Amino acid sequence: MKIQHKIIILPIIVMIIIFSLGMLMVEYQVKSTLENKFKQELQTLTLVALSAIETKNYKFDNHSINNHVIDNSFDRIADNVAKMTYVRVSYFSYEGDLLGDSSLDFTTIVNHKNQRQLPEIISALANNTGFAQRTDSHNVNIFYYTKFDVNSGIIARVSAPKNFYNKTLIDIRRGFSVIILATLLAIFIFASIAIRLISKAVLQERIRLQKEITEKTKEITLIQTMTTMVNDADNIEDAGAILANILPKLLPVLSGAIYLTKPPERLLSKICYWGNWPKGISVATNDKSSLERFNLVYAPVTDSSDNRLSIEQFSRHSFGVNLVADQHIFGKIFFVDNQNIIDENMRKVIQHLVEPINCALANVQLKILLKEQATKDPLTGLYNRRYMLEALTHALHQADRYDRHVAVLMIDLDHFKTFNDKFGHEAGDLVLARVAEQFMTNLRLEDIACRYGGEEFCIICPDTNLKEAYQLAEKLRLKIAALSIMCQEQRLDDISMSIGIAIYPNHADNGHDLMIQADKALYLAKNNGRNCTVVNQVSNHKSLLSR
Ligand code: GH3
Ligand code: MG
Ligand code: MG
Repeated sequence: MKIQHKIIILPIIVMIIIFSLGMLMVEYQVKSTLENKFKQELQTLTLVALSAIETKNYKFDNHSINNHVIDNSFDRIADNVAKMTYVRVSYFSYEGDLLGDSSLDFTTIVNHKNQRQLPEIISALANNTGFAQRTDSHNVNIFYYTKFDVNSGIIARVSAPKNFYNKTLIDIRRGFSVIILATLLAIFIFASIAIRLISKAVLQERIRLQKEITEKTKEITLIQTMTTMVNDADNIEDAGAILANILPKLLPVLSGAIYLTKPPERLLSKICYWGNWPKGISVATNDKSSLERFNLVYAPVTDSSDNRLSIEQFSRHSFGVNLVADQHIFGKIFFVDNQNIIDENMRKVIQHLVEPINCALANVQLKILLKEQATKDPLTGLYNRRYMLEALTHALHQADRYDRHVAVLMIDLDHFKTFNDKFGHEAGDLVLARVAEQFMTNLRLEDIACRYGGEEFCIICPDTNLKEAYQLAEKLRLKIAALSIMCQEQRLDDISMSIGIAIYPNHADNGHDLMIQADKALYLAKNNGRNCTVVNQVSNHKSLLSR
């Protein structure tokens, strides 16, 4: 059975039981009242029946009234009284002879002689009034009430079936049943309508909740996907692209951008934006345009005591959340609320959303940092020797595939020991960093500059032939020779470097040999008096023939 049916049927059953018990109680009360009233009425009717005959005409005359009244006048009176009422009316003489009866013909009346043995007659003669109750020949229980008139010697008797008032009871019962049925029907209709309305409301609420759950699940899945993807990103650009793609789906009503700090000034650099992100937000610098060109916002981030993911309100429509790792702010997420719909709830959602983004971006940065530490030299920022060997292998594979050259420049600073001794190790470090800076600014993106060890460098130049390699080496050599470096307000001596070049596949057919050949050329450059570039003279004839 459905719950809705139970809701209707159970109260109806309870109501039926209550109504039935109520009806039984009422019926019991009504029945006893009716019975008493009925008895009183019958008693009254005996007086009516007596008063109907003109008793003065029938003087009680020594038990011989029958001699005077053997006619049908009593019977007619009995008929008339019975017609006016609802009872049977009978008249008896003192001897108990029936004189008239509303239910019998006059001819049969004469057969009912000497009825004095009837209990109601006996008690009437004894007490003037009498009562009896018995079943008649039709098995109907009858009440008999009698009244004896002492003057005339006539006994009037009225009788009626005991269940005479049953019709009234049946009427009451019927009335009650109609009321009960109408009430039950009303309850049923009301309950059905109420249940239907409630079911409809419940269904609507369920649909709303299901929709909400689906949306929340979608949101959570999206956040998980976003976090996983950002965590998997190898660099900040990829992470930014993922966030720019997913964040508008999670916060479609907001525009925004994510900025990360850039060393050394810790200016904010934009990694992504979405929606109608206004350009140049909160930029306050002399060289605004150039900062914008590099997607930088002039808002140097300084760590404070409040390095939390709390929302900072910038203006009525814009606010930001710090990105924090290890108590340090490493970026900011800016939001612009153009529709002015942000409420306290939305702020909580944003704060919860920023948490996984913060964590994922911090992870990516850490990953990049670890990768850098594993592949880069901390003093110069150039790649280390381990990375160089990997990069060389990769460059040679590419060269084989596309039938191209690879140039290796082996570089060593001249008389660096003397320089160090003269100016100190710190100055030497500064020179190494400035030399590396020159490499980075004067090389192509695809060239790989490495610190080979100490004051030795190695540059791998993919797709570069001998002539191009020589030109590049000379350009770098001259740049370094032209450097003017100040250290602690002291101008350091000019520095020079020697360069040895080997070309793949001209001088060697593998990375290891190529490095040896470049080193040999460097050795020759040192022997030639330093501050010069020497190309390896050994030819790898096999490879040369093939290219
Ligand atoms: P050459 O022209 O023959 O190369 O002479 P050189 O003095 O440069 O060569 P040498 O190998 O004798 O000395 C290399 C010096 O480089 C020794 C060391 O003091 C210096 N050097 C190596 N690594 C570092 C470093 O990380 N920082 C500083 N400041 N100096 C370094
Ligand atoms: Mg050296
Ligand atoms: Mg040297």
